Amino acid sequence: MSESGRTVIIGLDGVPYGMLKGFADSGVMPNTGKLIKEGIFRQMHSSVPEVSSVAWSCMITGKNPGEHGTYGFMDLVPGSYKMKFPNFTDLKAAPFWDEWDGRSIIVNVPSTYPVRQMNGVHISGFVSIDFDKSVHPQSLIPELQKLDYRLDVNSELAHKNMDLFLQDVDNTLAARVKAGRYLWDYTDWQTFMFVFTGTDRLMHFLWDAYEDTGHKYHYLFCDHFKKIDKAIGEMAEKAGDGDLIVMVSDHGFERLDYDVYLNFALMEHGLLYFADGVGLNNISEGTKAFVLDPGRVYVNYKDKYPCGTVEESESEALLSELEALFGSLEVDGRKVVRDMYRKEQLYSGPYVDSAPDLILVGDDGFNLKGSVKAEQLASRGVFTGKHTQDTAFLVVSGAFDETVLPEVPTVSDVRGIIEKNTSRA
Ligand SMILES: [Zn+2]
Repeated sequence: MSESGRTVIIGLDGVPYGMLKGFADSGVMPNTGKLIKEGIFRQMHSSVPEVSSVAWSCMITGKNPGEHGTYGFMDLVPGSYKMKFPNFTDLKAAPFWDEWDGRSIIVNVPSTYPVRQMNGVHISGFVSIDFDKSVHPQSLIPELQKLDYRLDVNSELAHKNMDLFLQDVDNTLAARVKAGRYLWDYTDWQTFMFVFTGTDRLMHFLWDAYEDTGHKYHYLFCDHFKKIDKAIGEMAEKAGDGDLIVMVSDHGFERLDYDVYLNFALMEHGLLYFADGVGLNNISEGTKAFVLDPGRVYVNYKDKYPCGTVEESESEALLSELEALFGSLEVDGRKVVRDMYRKEQLYSGPYVDSAPDLILVGDDGFNLKGSVKAEQLASRGVFTGKHTQDTAFLVVSGAFDETVLPEVPTVSDVRGIIEKNTSRA
């Protein structure tokens, strides 16, 4: 515990505990293996729901969604069925770099677009649209362009040509690592945060290639992690003895067996109706509930939504009915939903009102979906991997006090763990 010690936070989007352990043990990620050996390595719980925008928001604020206000990749505009895309401007709690002492270098943290004035450097991550609004200070833009820095991989390629997609994932990584190297020495800093996001994209499309050693792309899949490990080794090497190194993923991953369409189940059971074509905007009278990705269930309350029909007094009976319905869903004879939470079990704070009323976590292999267009309960798509809630990881190495670590940390604990180890709270 040193007050002068710096903090290096390395994010690996979506990488599950088991995969990191496997790659560390088998020598694909030797530098990560060294950090694990020198520090602690724990399985970590993601946010509920286990999507990057929510989980990274929890990580950088140290708060739960009831306090930072982000509940999904898309959220509802209050008082309507309209969807909006929450960005950094919508985040209702401060990221650590606005509150900690010293300069921060922040590279590629999801859901931090558009960037704003801060003490240091901030390059926002997925989804970043306009390069000019993704970089602070703007004077860095020419240098980043010289390094061929990209705001994200081109996932469209994966649908057309997997070889080109893999090349793009690697090129994006290479440019980002070069930018990281440049920024490491660009100025004095207290906190350096760097997130690798190609990992998530790879796992969505090629989880099968990871599991199957005979798969055409198994080698290239592992090779990407080797390249990441090299960059991790470089950062660990440059960090000083008194520095704290924290490695995290925001959620885990596993094989995807089925996408399961929860709104289809609601429609079949007479709990969701549409007028003039299927679409959230066309929700009509008689609707009791609807679902947004991934497993966010909203009760269609009378004074909350334009076509709201449910009275507060009917709430408990309806929630019980929904729990019974979703709890009994089966595909191929397997239970679809593993965990169900009422919103008050998960969230607290000033923004609980905009939270989903019931939140579901899928069982092994089941990817819960809010799409309203499905014509059947379950199907298989192009993706072979899906997020998991309970298999993220946390590695803490360097100068730290183990007693401040919860036995099973969650993404909302990460900021506090760092603060307790650096006297920054
Ligand atoms: Zn993902």
